Amino acid sequence: MSSLPSARILARSLGALLASALATTSHAQEPARLHGLRPDSLEIRDVMVVRGDGAPPFGPTSVFVRDGKLVAALDGTPATVIDGTGLWLLPGLVATHAHLQEASAGIPMPMEYQGALWLACGVTTIRDLGSTIARSLRVRARGDKGEFPCPRILLYHQLGAVHSKEEAVARVRAIASAGGDGIKFWSNVNYPPEVLRAALQEAANNRLRTTAHIGVGESNAIHYADGGIDCIEHWYGIPDAALRGVQDFPARFSYSNEVDRFREAGKLWRQTDPEKLEAVLQHLVEREVAWSPTLAVYEASRDLVRAQNQPWFREWLHPALEAFFSPSLDSHGSYFIGWSSTDETAWRENYRIWMGALRRFAELGGTVATGEDAGYIYLLYGFGLLREMELHLEAGFHPLEVVRHASYHGAKVLGREQDFGRVLPGLDADLILVNGNPLENLKRLYPTGCDEYRDGKSAPTGGIRWTIRGGRIWHGPTLATQVKDLVRQAREKTSGGR
Ligand SMILES: [Zn+2]
Repeated sequence: MSSLPSARILARSLGALLASALATTSHAQEPARLHGLRPDSLEIRDVMVVRGDGAPPFGPTSVFVRDGKLVAALDGTPATVIDGTGLWLLPGLVATHAHLQEASAGIPMPMEYQGALWLACGVTTIRDLGSTIARSLRVRARGDKGEFPCPRILLYHQLGAVHSKEEAVARVRAIASAGGDGIKFWSNVNYPPEVLRAALQEAANNRLRTTAHIGVGESNAIHYADGGIDCIEHWYGIPDAALRGVQDFPARFSYSNEVDRFREAGKLWRQTDPEKLEAVLQHLVEREVAWSPTLAVYEASRDLVRAQNQPWFREWLHPALEAFFSPSLDSHGSYFIGWSSTDETAWRENYRIWMGALRRFAELGGTVATGEDAGYIYLLYGFGLLREMELHLEAGFHPLEVVRHASYHGAKVLGREQDFGRVLPGLDADLILVNGNPLENLKRLYPTGCDEYRDGKSAPTGGIRWTIRGGRIWHGPTLATQVKDLVRQAREKTSGGR
């Protein structure tokens, strides 16, 4: 083989160099100027709009922002104009189940990593369902000032283990005075119905919203609904209320062993009585309990190889998460020790029944929202919410309904639908601008983009070009670079320390 390149190859690479130089100059000004800025007024021109409440798309049209809020029109010239040609504008996405994490597997992770990932994936609001109260309040204050790329954060603190009505009431009051927006009912104990009722009543007295990851035991979804819970996370407690007796645990089962726990959870939905399940779903809808199913976080249970080999791990996965995700009984959700084809098959059936129940719940009038629970079980922040949207599509929802789950319904679950979650004048300007129509292909939302057939050949497309939170503009490709740089630096540090 000759080591000298031919004249034709040289000409071709020169052409490519020139083309890439031109491409860089034409895009360089825009992001450098706008990334992280919050102009007084903004016009997004010639853009297609999906409002977020299920209404059909409209446009091309202009969308206006003044002082961080959507307005019907601007008087005078806008301070900033974004050309929306070829872009689709949607409300910013709401992750109703998230965790702020400053470290994983004992390895620190900067908040900038999580924040930039969420915004790059179009997530403008997260509900933190358990972290350190004081630290999270500080993170939120920095994020609100725009000191680093960060979604809006709502803080729900965990109720934890309480064993009496008095203990429950005291804990709720402590959470209220610490400055939380709500309470997540979760602990390794299952709250007895009278303790649960007292805690929910005290939460209502303190105007705290509530959600629950229901533990297996005496109280199930019906008890929570009757006590006034606002939302149910995952699915625990719902099939439990529709069993003919108790769950069919094998004699050697231990709830403390996560392999046992997740293996048997994969057989739960098939044990439900269809008539009882229908009655449970109806009851939840009557009591106005919402459901954030977090379908994405259990997906490894039905397809482990897929979960372990997501292509974005190559450049976007922080070494702290990589370490945490490796199978171990010490890391919550890393239960894949001896996980078998039989387990995956059971989980596939589990998903079919679960998704059917979710559809039925929505048909009855129930509010379905999207959460992710990323940082656990091979799920990356932001990417988890986009995968969740794809799984809502798989459950049988129309793409417009999927967007509604991820925007308007998310805001409703948080009790904030008058503040954000739709593209409507008067609401906060939480918006995403997507390269192409995501209703046609949700994969266009992924910051890694996707390949599509165009003009006779495969071409890269998609991705979120701009994420706007409360009028502050973030450039998608710049966020992507920030994340990848943080990952590269962390990997160098980790391998250097060995
Ligand atoms: Zn969680």
